[in-house]
Amino acid sequence: MALPSGQRISLLRLFNRIIKNDIRCCSGRAPVRKCLSKMSLYPPTKQKGEFSNCKSQSLFLYNDILFPCHSGAYNYLPLGLRALEKLTRLIDEEMQNIGAQKIAMPSMIKASLWKRTGRWDTPELFKLKDRHSKEYCLGPTHEELITDMVSQFGMIPYKRLPIMLYQITTKFRDEMHPKYALLRGREFQMKDMYTFDTDEVTAKETYERICDTYCKIFNRLELNFKKVAGATGNIGGTLSHEFQLPSDIGEDTIYTCNQCGFGSNVELIDPIEVESNNVSCPKCKSEMEKSSGIEVGHAFYLGTKYSSVFNVYYGSRYNEKILTEMGCYGLGVSRILQAGVEVLSTDKYIRWPTLLAPYQVCIIPQMQGYASEEFLEISNDLYDRLSGLPNLKNEVVIDDRITMTVGKRIYQADTQGYPNIVVVGSKTLKEPRMYEIKTPKISSDSEYLTLDQLIDRLSIIETI
Ligand SMILES: [Zn+2]
Repeated sequence: MALPSGQRISLLRLFNRIIKNDIRCCSGRAPVRKCLSKMSLYPPTKQKGEFSNCKSQSLFLYNDILFPCHSGAYNYLPLGLRALEKLTRLIDEEMQNIGAQKIAMPSMIKASLWKRTGRWDTPELFKLKDRHSKEYCLGPTHEELITDMVSQFGMIPYKRLPIMLYQITTKFRDEMHPKYALLRGREFQMKDMYTFDTDEVTAKETYERICDTYCKIFNRLELNFKKVAGATGNIGGTLSHEFQLPSDIGEDTIYTCNQCGFGSNVELIDPIEVESNNVSCPKCKSEMEKSSGIEVGHAFYLGTKYSSVFNVYYGSRYNEKILTEMGCYGLGVSRILQAGVEVLSTDKYIRWPTLLAPYQVCIIPQMQGYASEEFLEISNDLYDRLSGLPNLKNEVVIDDRITMTVGKRIYQADTQGYPNIVVVGSKTLKEPRMYEIKTPKISSDSEYLTLDQLIDRLSIIETI
């Protein structure tokens, strides 16, 4: 298109200006520093008493972590989503360490698959129809879908086994009584893993390896968990273990033996023994202790329950056609996020599993007044130095709301559970500069460190 010459020149100028601006953006302009004055979304709501018996729910709602949506569903605010994503990365890391591969399957599953296994009438299924009146459910778990898919790969060579596939996706369950936010929601994040093996022996080896990995995950999260024998229920199979976090608000009753370490869900114990309040350990006959737990993980050895319905065979070394042995393994990802906070926190202060804290470091400059500019500059320099450390990239914020007192901002940072709070106060104006650091999870005292000492200390924090 030919433009009048005057217009052409002005367009060219405009174009040049855009190019120059782009170059300036790309070359050297530092990324925006993360300042709390721009990040906090809403003032803490004070709905006193409403969530009094579930402290993690109140802590999440009062501290910019979650925002309620409708029954059994919550919005993750930026801090909450960061923590969830860290947990997801941790699980990915551990799953891939044992050779599992990640996939993603649709949430909508056609009814015919669930009818084949006889699970279509499960009351917790969310069901829907498309415009052609075809029936679907929103998957609470994916045994049917994955087994059907793997069956279509044809006969699997024995050398290719075990197959370990997992996903971390949104699952749905029409809960009768959704409660405690992420602990019992109608929509939740779950890691579900499915394995295919040649025989019972190898399938049970895979089972043990995955249970060990679950233990490792809970250990890395600093969570005191109990692995107990579980019922197989609706999923089916012959062997099952649950991973429980002991907590007063837990909905599961578990019995554990202090002598030999054996544990069991109450569902597996003789009701007469339970009634008489005298449950003896099936392994060593000692008396077992009763407690409440939040179920955060579950492992099932399925045998051929699903592979026989969907015909998943492998070819043996003698070229025989044999059914694969399956296992399925769940981790309640969003539930772990909240249950971890539930068991580690106090009524007032969020205590994250340290690896999951949304940010590792909060820098608090002195309150507005004398030498404000200098304090902000020192804080910005510190932010840049720390963010330059490989482990702290994207892990630092500045609480630049300098109209608030330092005390009030420390209190908020402590409440939200930042593992490291660094105050840039008057001692940073003298040589050598001394920074005040608080690590609330470890000690209520603070320490004064030089910049080098501070960097040494913070450069060894493990992050994910
Ligand atoms: Zn025992």
